[in-house]
Amino acid sequence: LLNLLFSLLHSVPPKITKLSDAIPDHHWCIPFSVAGNPTPHLQWFLDGEAVTEGVYIMTMIHDVTEREYHGCLQLDSPTHLNNGRYTLLAKNEYGTDQKEVEAHFMRKPWDGEEFKTHCFLIVQVYVVVGIAAVAFTGFLLMLVILKFGGNSKFGIKGPSSVISNDDDSASPLHHVSNGSNTPSSSEMGPDAVIIGMTKIPVIENPQYFRSTNSLLKTDTFVQHIKRHNIVLKRELGEGAFGKVFLAECYNLSPDHEKILVAVKTLKEASENARKDFHREAELLTNLQHEHIVTFYGVCVESDPLIMVFEYMKHGDLNKFLRAHGPDAVLMAEGQTTRPVELTQSQMLHIAQQIASGMVYLASQHFVHRDLATRNCLVGENLLVKIGDFGMSRDVYSTDYYRVGGHTMLPIRWMPPESIMYRKFTTESDVWSLGVVLWEIFTYGKQPWYQLSNNEVIECITQGRVLQRPRTCPKEVYDLMLGCWQREPHMRLNIKEIHCLLLNLAKASPVYLDILG
Ligand code: ADP
Repeated sequence: LLNLLFSLLHSVPPKITKLSDAIPDHHWCIPFSVAGNPTPHLQWFLDGEAVTEGVYIMTMIHDVTEREYHGCLQLDSPTHLNNGRYTLLAKNEYGTDQKEVEAHFMRKPWDGEEFKTHCFLIVQVYVVVGIAAVAFTGFLLMLVILKFGGNSKFGIKGPSSVISNDDDSASPLHHVSNGSNTPSSSEMGPDAVIIGMTKIPVIENPQYFRSTNSLLKTDTFVQHIKRHNIVLKRELGEGAFGKVFLAECYNLSPDHEKILVAVKTLKEASENARKDFHREAELLTNLQHEHIVTFYGVCVESDPLIMVFEYMKHGDLNKFLRAHGPDAVLMAEGQTTRPVELTQSQMLHIAQQIASGMVYLASQHFVHRDLATRNCLVGENLLVKIGDFGMSRDVYSTDYYRVGGHTMLPIRWMPPESIMYRKFTTESDVWSLGVVLWEIFTYGKQPWYQLSNNEVIECITQGRVLQRPRTCPKEVYDLMLGCWQREPHMRLNIKEIHCLLLNLAKASPVYLDILG
């Protein structure tokens, strides 16, 4: 009886004393305080629907003061899907209380644009009306031109000048980027596909074709190599634009009569492809760094057009990682030349070199957009260089997601903002570098290999990140997580990453001779 009296005296129905706006911290937090005795049961609703708590959304109580509970609804990397009205319902046997707060974490992709299906219908109507208006205006113009016989007295320009204006805007250098590499509205264009609730814009060209940065100088001197100085030896692989061969090149270096080179051929060069070829050659001439593959020059005497690069003995890094992983070692059981599994320190040595190349690219304001191990090359003594600025999309076609006709996106290496808003920056390159680290520490596994492309897009835009590889030290996984911060400005800086990797690599010296 005394107990009953005591609990009746101290019974307090729930009261929500605080529910405030969401604040970004390490996680997002919707702060609240609730008083009550016995301890109230808490339930959250988002736009009227009960929130199921789990690892990504959970109620956390941080502090208790005299029957008042202070805590957070903690959200790990919330997306636009988490935006809405949050209701907190507190309940115990003596009563209930509830309060509401609006939370806005991320802009919905293509907010205000033709995002929902019904909006598309409206857009289609606009397009039809637009075309009709243009046709009608054209008709009127024709009438005027016919009437005044091409006489420019009224300031009406002939069709040729209109076309030349269009030509200008079609020139790759005309779309001057705004530094941040954010697409202009004209770039958003109609080239987009819809996957689930996400609209993915189409990228027509790698960034450097449109870049105004210092790498595309007008006075670049591209070295020309004579065809008779190139002797093909064997095929090395298939690139996006043609075959890649191992060759001997004569009279290239003053110290050697001939050296081994890798030549990339450009088959069936259309006028545009030729322009791109020359632009890429200019860019490559200006990119010079110990961890960027050396570009020697071009041979354009006749078809096919050729680019000459230094030869990297062990080929692309993805193949190399797979060839030195546990599966390859197992497969080669009993053979005379068994591959040796890469050690952690060798992995760090590889990672550090790629980061060094990326520090250089960032210093040149060059956004790579397609950093992945398939685009890095391995030479002697585990020397690694970033080797490809084009699109190696034929051989590794499953690494890309086809949108529209020809465009392939490396979605598994892309951060949410590149997938959702087609925003490519040095920070999105940092995200990709995190994925490259993951590739290295999994011996070349495909990121999210267990998921389909649509599932990957869903996962990344929802804020999920790759799991820690089995052989990966905590320090390295922390680094990956630093690259995969949802907010681009929260990601680690490329210089910091290089510094951290360099220190980790120094702490565990590499025994290169293991590779043989
Ligand atoms: P593209 O840029 O035209 O798509 P890649 O750079 O992907 O061509 O080259 C295709 C393949 O050729 C690579 O996967 C690699 O195995 C080989 N390769 C390319 N460049 C070199 C090089 N400099 N040294 C050795 N092998 C190379």
